[in-house]
Amino acid sequence: MAKFKIEHDREGCISCGACAAVCPENWEMASDGKSKCLKTDLEILGCNETAASGCPVNVIHIKDLKTGKRLY
Ligand code: SF4
Repeated sequence: MAKFKIEHDREGCISCGACAAVCPENWEMASDGKSKCLKTDLEILGCNETAASGCPVNVIHIKDLKTGKRLY
């Protein structure tokens, strides 16, 4: 069962490519130039945490489904 949920505000993405660079297993650059999250329901955060903390415009959010709190 998923423990974390990624919420990506694609509208605000400035296409910098950082998330796809630090976490290529779950982030890729789409044909419209913005990044795309491949899997939003996660059991383990792994590199998604680095992707969220490194996003320069803060459009990658991670929610802890157990506590309901937003980690990023
Ligand atoms: S790090 Fe943020 S701004 Fe950069 S591509 Fe990823 S979501 Fe978009």
